[in-house]
Parts: sequence; structure tokens; C-alpha cells
Amino acid sequence: SNKIVIKIGSSTITSEDGIINKEFIDSLANQVKSLIDEGKQVVIVSSGARIAGVSTIDKWSRKEDVNYKQALCAIGQVELMDSYRIIFNKYNAHVAQILLTREDFNSHARTLNIRNTLFTLLDEKVIPIVNENDTVCVDEIKIGDNDMLAAQTTVLWNADLLIILSDIDGIYDKSPIENRDAKLIELVDDVDELEKHISIGKSSSFGTGGISTKLKAAKLVNKYGINMIVANGKKENIIEKLASGEEKGTLFI
Ligand code: ADP
Repeated sequence: SNKIVIKIGSSTITSEDGIINKEFIDSLANQVKSLIDEGKQVVIVSSGARIAGVSTIDKWSRKEDVNYKQALCAIGQVELMDSYRIIFNKYNAHVAQILLTREDFNSHARTLNIRNTLFTLLDEKVIPIVNENDTVCVDEIKIGDNDMLAAQTTVLWNADLLIILSDIDGIYDKSPIENRDAKLIELVDDVDELEKHISIGKSSSFGTGGISTKLKAAKLVNKYGINMIVANGKKENIIEKLASGEEKGTLFI
């Protein structure tokens, strides 16, 4: 695969103590740089703005008001990108911010503009970092979770592969937190069939979409003939290890 979208979940970008996990971003930067050096192109879709906002303005963390939620995302997006910028720069890589909404994917003119910007950035070896533009979206009109945002970006860019990095090795037949005997499903060629046979538990404390949005994302990219992998972002050098077969995730074909 030469064109790869990597989606970073909230559970992966956040440390146990609810702040941005800089060690993770460092390891991601290192891995993405290797991919680019091999001649591949990478687009990142990153969650974490809300969490970064909460850890910046702690006293707002309990506000459930929608305007405060959006304000926290606006504050946190800068903090998040600041971490990406500083850490990727250490690896001589530049990053760019792209904020999108659902409506952007429904407009021919906008998708064309997004594609052109992506192509220009990638030609210049700059790494686009995509997130949902929370300022202009309330819950009712949101894509809602970055699994679907990543899938739509994958299709729009016509990538070869979508890698979803989460805090678990992949999709299990039942929730791995609640069941010690849960088994990892390594290959899925029919998501509808899979859904009949697995049970889905609650998502992690910082997660938003959970497993059902990952399955929805797989359905979308698979429909366009694009593969998707769910894997554990907390494992060192996971992308290289997936490629060599040393680590397993769930591959959707
Ligand atoms: P992210 O923030 O990476 O998008 P989520 O927290 O939303 O991730 O979803 C991943 C979580 O879903 C895992 O931590 C896991 O505990 C939970 N989960 C529930 N049911 C399953 C299942 N059948 N297979 C895998 N994970 C599951």
C-alpha cells in the first residue's frame, strides 16, 4: 500500500491521566517518517482535541453545555496540533491541519478543493492531520466520530489502506475488558456477517465511537475495495510489525 490513512483514537492519544500522550506521538512520528522514507504517503486523522482542551482549562471539564464543549475543542485543537508540530519537527517532518465537516464531503466543489490541498501537501512531503471542525458542528450535524471521518477521508483520497489505531489489538468476539477468554478476529471479509456473531461492550473511558463505528468505517472503505486494519497503537512500532506479520490486528478486506 502506498497511500495510507492512519486514524488515532482518543484512547491512544491520551495517557492514563487524561493528558496528551507525547511518547505516543513521538513513536507515531518515527513510524510515519519511516513510511515516507520508503516512498509512501500518509494522512493522519487524529482525535484528542476535547481531551487536550480539558487538560488546558481544567475548570471547564464538567461543563456539559454544548457551547463549552465546542469551546474546549477549539482550545484543545491548538494544543493537540502544537504537540504534533513540535514532535514531528524533531523528525524533520512538517505537519498541516485540515478541519472538515460532514457537509464538506457532500459538496463536489469542496471535495475537489480538499483533494487538491491534500495532493499539494503530500507532494511536498508534508503530513496532513485531519480532524472534525467542531466549531461549526453541533452533535446533530456531526460525522460524530473519527472512525467515519477517517473512512470518508480514505475514500475521498482514494487511499490503499486505512489503519485504525486503538487501545486493543483488534476486534474480538466479545469485549476483551469484560471477558478474559475473548478471541481476536484476524480476518473479516463480510462485516454484516461478523456483526451477527460478536458482542460489543462499552468503549474505553476516553473513546467516543467504540467498535460499532469501526465496523461502519470498514463497510464504507471495503465497498470501495480498500482494506482496513484495526490494531493496537500502544504497541511499539506497530505499523512495521503488522507489515512483517510479527503483530496481528483485525484486517477487513
Ligand atoms: P478509540 O478511542 O480508539 O476509537 P474506543 O474506546 O472507542 O476506541 O473503542 C475501543 C474499545 O472498545 C476497547 O478498549 C474495548 O475495550 C472496547 N470493546 C468493546 N467490545 C469490543 C469487542 N467486541 N472487540 C474489541 N473491543 C471491544
